[in-house]
Amino acid sequence: MLSKTVAELATALANKDVSSVELTQAYLDRIAQLNPALNAYVTITSELALAQAAAADTARAAGQATPLTGIPIAHKDIFCTRDVLTTCGSRMLANFTSPYDACVVERLQAAGAVMLGKTNMDEFAMGSSNETSHFGPVHNPWDQARVPGGSSGGSAAAVAADLCAMATGTDTGGSIRQPASFCGITGLKPTYGRVSRWGMIAFASSLDQAGPLTKSAEDAALMMNAIAGADARDSTCLDIPAEDFTAQLNQPLTGLRIGLPREHFSGGLSAQVQEILQLAISKLESLGATFRDIELPNNHLSVPAYYVIAPAEASANLSRFDGARFGYRCENPVNLEDMYKRSRGEGFGDEVKRRIMVGTYALSAGYYDAYYKKAQKIRRLIKEDFDTAFRDVDLILGPTSPHTAFKLGEKNSDPVTMYLEDIYTIAVNLAGLPGMSLPAGMLGGLPIGMQLVGPALSESRLLNVAHQFQLHTDWHTQRPEV
Ligand code: GLN
Repeated sequence: MLSKTVAELATALANKDVSSVELTQAYLDRIAQLNPALNAYVTITSELALAQAAAADTARAAGQATPLTGIPIAHKDIFCTRDVLTTCGSRMLANFTSPYDACVVERLQAAGAVMLGKTNMDEFAMGSSNETSHFGPVHNPWDQARVPGGSSGGSAAAVAADLCAMATGTDTGGSIRQPASFCGITGLKPTYGRVSRWGMIAFASSLDQAGPLTKSAEDAALMMNAIAGADARDSTCLDIPAEDFTAQLNQPLTGLRIGLPREHFSGGLSAQVQEILQLAISKLESLGATFRDIELPNNHLSVPAYYVIAPAEASANLSRFDGARFGYRCENPVNLEDMYKRSRGEGFGDEVKRRIMVGTYALSAGYYDAYYKKAQKIRRLIKEDFDTAFRDVDLILGPTSPHTAFKLGEKNSDPVTMYLEDIYTIAVNLAGLPGMSLPAGMLGGLPIGMQLVGPALSESRLLNVAHQFQLHTDWHTQRPEV
């Protein structure tokens, strides 16, 4: 039962094969059993979950069920939750309880979803392995000596290990797609502005976007139906009418034109990953899609540009954590400056401090033009590469990551090696486009994902292609033995 998709669970709940209370209790039991080893959850909200499940059962009995009513969900600990800790993976917020729910949390709750708890993540979403968390690393359920990816590593591991039916994540440079790839699940980063960022702790505001981590593309569409849409509390949230993201799932792929970026299929990509992608391409061809080579000539500049822009925005966003207003305050400060310095010095971890220093430097007078302004110009070129490509193709396909999940500790010593993890995903955030990762094969017993990228607001098309692929393959149904 616990490995079922959201769509399957909704049917089971509707048929009264199981109640939401029973389902929720079963997930809680499995969490109690496996979370000590995986460390996917940092907070487990058992009582609240059972109360929400009972309310969901009552709503269903009264004929008021949506497709998500009674379905257990895990929220990345970057989303504010009223009366429940929101740590963002940091010592800085280890004691922080938000007075309100994030928009995403609020909407999923309104749709009847049952919150099981909050998931572990890289500190302030900065990382690709979940190793920067103040609460210790998450272990990949496929091989516990390996990372689950990051920064939404706890959410991805929880979905893969059947510790929830679905989860929320956020993606600033790859943090939904790369962990989805490493854990063998489906992850969607929506178009910038599709989903409200209200109540989602800010990392890099021009890049951050929330999205679903699920067991299937159909489930991602169901979650999108609940979370997407205008929100007056986030001025960057697009004011466009709501969409039914399931409406196009069954559309045939005949006539679909997919581009293969030369830059993604050369250089660092291993022959084995190429082979897996080739099989996926053949499958999509047999379903009616046609392929052609395209170019994204500025893709190699995406990581350097991102590592100026994201830290610059982070340095500004994280200035609010000063010991006075939120979270951690040092012991016995002697004066105000001492309080600021020691609270921030003791509250933030190394990677966060590195980003704040890089960002502050890049924004400082005298260096602004050389770094920040230049990075913004590169960002425009990257966006134009995609605009050009989408004149000839409907979607772009490539790898999500150059490889499968790596070992814990393997890439810790050199930040640049870790930054290169997102070589295929970061450009998508810089251009504000939707992208998704879905399971495409297995390599040495570990899952490997493929990435689909579309023009702005093409989520329905992406989900359609992913769903059709999943109807004809079974990579997404494979589960680790935990
Ligand atoms: N790995 C990238 C970083 O460390 C992206 C993280 C994210 O998407 N939140 O910044």
